[in-house]
Amino acid sequence: MPELRKDPITQEWVIIATERARRPSDFTHLTIAEPDKPEYSATCPFCPGKEGMTPSEVLAFRHGQDCNIADWWVRVVPNKFPALAIEGALNKRGNGMYDLMNGVGAHEVIIETPKHNLDPATFSLYQMSEVLWAYRERYLDLRKDSRFKYILIFRNHGKVAGASLEHPHSQLIATPMIPIDVVNELQGAERYFQYRDRCIWCDMIEQELEAQERIVKESEHFVAFEPFASKFPFETWLLPKTHQASFTDMTRERMMEFAGLMQDIFQRIAVCLNSPPYNFAIHTAPCGRENSDVFHWHMVVMPRLTIAAGFEMGTGIYINVTSPEAAAGYLRDASKSPDTESTDKVEVLA
Ligand SMILES: [Zn+2]
Ligand SMILES: [Zn+2]
Ligand SMILES: [Zn+2]
Repeated sequence: MPELRKDPITQEWVIIATERARRPSDFTHLTIAEPDKPEYSATCPFCPGKEGMTPSEVLAFRHGQDCNIADWWVRVVPNKFPALAIEGALNKRGNGMYDLMNGVGAHEVIIETPKHNLDPATFSLYQMSEVLWAYRERYLDLRKDSRFKYILIFRNHGKVAGASLEHPHSQLIATPMIPIDVVNELQGAERYFQYRDRCIWCDMIEQELEAQERIVKESEHFVAFEPFASKFPFETWLLPKTHQASFTDMTRERMMEFAGLMQDIFQRIAVCLNSPPYNFAIHTAPCGRENSDVFHWHMVVMPRLTIAAGFEMGTGIYINVTSPEAAAGYLRDASKSPDTESTDKVEVLA
């Protein structure tokens, strides 16, 4: 019998279609195997030496003092084709019953490594933590801008997941409103908090750790599990075990630990599902609410194994063909891929 499950945070229902249960091997024909990429691509605007092909950088981790030259290991630039423009006033207005404002925001690209052929599953641990540190620095800079209400950091991996350039990169979009998915989470978490005086994610983590059946992996301060009402097969959440509203509150040491858990999860997904396309997003507290008792930051990883069709588009109810309990089991059993980049920063630059 299929099961309807309700997300306790957003109240959304999902269908866990156990009768159509899919194993990892059922998905591997859907994943688009990307041919072996070279370490450097002469046509790629994000490869080192091509700094003039991007807008001028807003942040770079590099050895020297000069900007826009090829001695960086993480580089952040404005998106050449931004979804929202950085200059200008919002000019909020109405047209009869319709509300509108100017498309003001920030849209940046975090170029995660000089090497064209790596990804979060194959970065060195140091490189992964530097990428997270770049996210943090950009977040802290942009939140000073009072026009911005939310800053979303996300990654599209593979063409199917929306990546138009293959060089490893993630993106940041600062918006002048709180996105509706975050509003829904916030409202659900506030309802729960009013009733129980506790953070819903803290309670969820405690219950998941107790039950263990949906846990994929934990480290000392972080945990990764498949949510009870997963919308997608192998949807995975990564969270700090103790309450923290904003991911920018992580210390350098914690960020290194989180980078390790992230890589462990991406390696398991790569091994288990044959390097599928995926998206991830960091849901952190809205700007100005970084000390919230109600919101608990989390990273959501969404492998793109199925396509939302008429029912999902028509109702918002997702049909998930792999139960989160089964997905957690497959990911726990997946052994880590050993071939990560062994280099540290110094060797990368040599
Ligand atoms: Zn490249
Ligand atoms: Zn919490
Ligand atoms: Zn979320």
